[in-house]
Amino acid sequence: MATDDLIIGIDLGTTNSLAGVMTPAGPVVVRDAAGSALIPSVIAFTPDGAVTVGAAAKAHAVENPLATVYSVKRLMGKGVQDLAEDLRVLPYAVVGSRQVALAEGQLDEIQRDLVWVRVNGRLMTPQELSAVILKEVKARAEAALGRAVTQAVITVPAYFDDAQRQATRDAGRIAGLEVKRIVNEPTAAVLAYGLDQRQDATVAVYDLGGGTFDLSVLKIAGGVCQVLSTHGDTHLGGDDLDRELMDLIAGEVRSRYGEHLEFTPATRQALRLFAEAAKIRISDHPTATVEVDLGEGRVFSRTIAREEFEALSAKWIDRTLEHCRLALGDAGKTPAQIDRVVMVGGCTRIPYVRRRVGELFGPAKVYTAVNPDEVVALGAAVQAGILMGLKRDLLLLDVTPLSLGIETLGGAMGKLILRNTTVPCQASEVFTTYVDGQTSVDIHVLQGERELAADCRSLGRFQLRGIPPMPAGGPRIRVGFLIDANGILNVSAREERSGREASVQITPSHGLTRQEVDAMVKESLAKARPDMVAHQLIDLRNEAGRILRAVEKALINVPQALSSEQRLLLDGAVAMLKTRLQQDDPDQIYAAMNLVNDAAMPLTQAQMDQVMKQTVVGKKLEDL
Ligand code: AMP
Repeated sequence: MATDDLIIGIDLGTTNSLAGVMTPAGPVVVRDAAGSALIPSVIAFTPDGAVTVGAAAKAHAVENPLATVYSVKRLMGKGVQDLAEDLRVLPYAVVGSRQVALAEGQLDEIQRDLVWVRVNGRLMTPQELSAVILKEVKARAEAALGRAVTQAVITVPAYFDDAQRQATRDAGRIAGLEVKRIVNEPTAAVLAYGLDQRQDATVAVYDLGGGTFDLSVLKIAGGVCQVLSTHGDTHLGGDDLDRELMDLIAGEVRSRYGEHLEFTPATRQALRLFAEAAKIRISDHPTATVEVDLGEGRVFSRTIAREEFEALSAKWIDRTLEHCRLALGDAGKTPAQIDRVVMVGGCTRIPYVRRRVGELFGPAKVYTAVNPDEVVALGAAVQAGILMGLKRDLLLLDVTPLSLGIETLGGAMGKLILRNTTVPCQASEVFTTYVDGQTSVDIHVLQGERELAADCRSLGRFQLRGIPPMPAGGPRIRVGFLIDANGILNVSAREERSGREASVQITPSHGLTRQEVDAMVKESLAKARPDMVAHQLIDLRNEAGRILRAVEKALINVPQALSSEQRLLLDGAVAMLKTRLQQDDPDQIYAAMNLVNDAAMPLTQAQMDQVMKQTVVGKKLEDL
């Protein structure tokens, strides 16, 4: 197969991202050299301009909270006004383009309200930030597969609206990936379990990840997999459980050390990581202890029991079960009519979650065999395989998660496509003018279930111009909605008497224009080299620092290990490395580091001998 034909599957998660690829033996996830597949969806920016992604960035979060960006998925395709809940808890700066324009007195020029994340004075859109994560996923896949990767299937929660899907697609493009298909996560989960290939069944997919929850009901019949309904919340997940634990600890810290105690951003980040670690530990242990160093000798320690965690989680899990009932209602099914429940997302490892889901559907139906962190990426790989022509015997049918329509006279929402309609689909309706001689109409595209336009989400606006003047009610304007297989919306308007038409792929009010995406692609390509060098320099400096500290320590531990000639050589190499660390040439630093390593070899050897001796001393012969 040519390189161009390879398509990988990517689960671009709120908390973690990972890739899968189809092999003749079935789908597998892409792992790094250490065997790990999950890449934390976290990006850290250092003041010198370098960017790190994944576990290293997550570890940075404590020292560098304002410049560590996580949960970007929550910002995708959103306006700042949609994000009030998140802005309270995200430590990094999120601003709206309108807000910035207003402050600068240039509001008129700005039509859309883009969300920007501001780090070290630089403004970036969520699409660009997600692209940074996707680039890392791509790079790891390329390293593991030993070939270039340029095409991908990317999954999104079933509940994602049009703007969020488009933002995901744009992120892929910015990362240098042609997005062949956007697939709903529950559909991917069903593919990963191979449920589509067994006998006909009705399956529920319960997906509780870090930041999103959804339950989808799928019908599998005759090799066709159809989403019957989906309900969820893009603001419900493991992060909320972490926050419960954080609030518990923060409250107790304040009542012990005074209500006035202000948490620094670094302490908040540390608390978040501790809370998450405690939550994960409680899945396998009856208790977890969190210790917070508040400085000035104050260390706060608290043990949390599983029952206590379950009590704190109850309201969130109740909420997921409410969504389950709504989705079942929409699909016209009772819990008893569901044959299997597939568990997806890291939080479905929590025993309490499994128990509650089992209580609703029947414990025997709950499927947890495939690693819940990997199941979506594996399914994305299966879908990629289908697109590569490796497997042809399945047809996927998704549904649109929310109704779509346009604003009609008086600010009402006129629905053209109802929620849970199977995609691809199209619908059209004829509208007219209300004013004599009107030559243009504004078409305001909306998404949502409410009746008033003001209560629905605005996806964008466009104008049909050049309508010949006619009396009010004369023009026949046919508005057509088409949702393609990726769930992306195209809207067209045609005045039937004159043949005037306008058609757009909706650029969501909070989305990027084609030109902006292209500019970002160019910028990211232009910056790829300096970004890589900066990253490399940071890694090298860290490594050099470690070596220099080890040499200093060894010189104290085994002062006699080197001859005076060897010592001279080592001192020279150390001095050279220190000088080169002041400059920005990775090759030069690397060469000096090797010199130090070589010159320190006798020292390392002597130190190892000493350790061996210390280990042996004091042991009886028969213990050895
Ligand atoms: P996902 O978005 O699917 O990657 O899920 C990530 C979420 O799952 C995060 O909130 C994690 O803290 C959580 N998680 C991962 N492993 C476990 C575990 N063993 N127990 C509880 N929660 C977990």
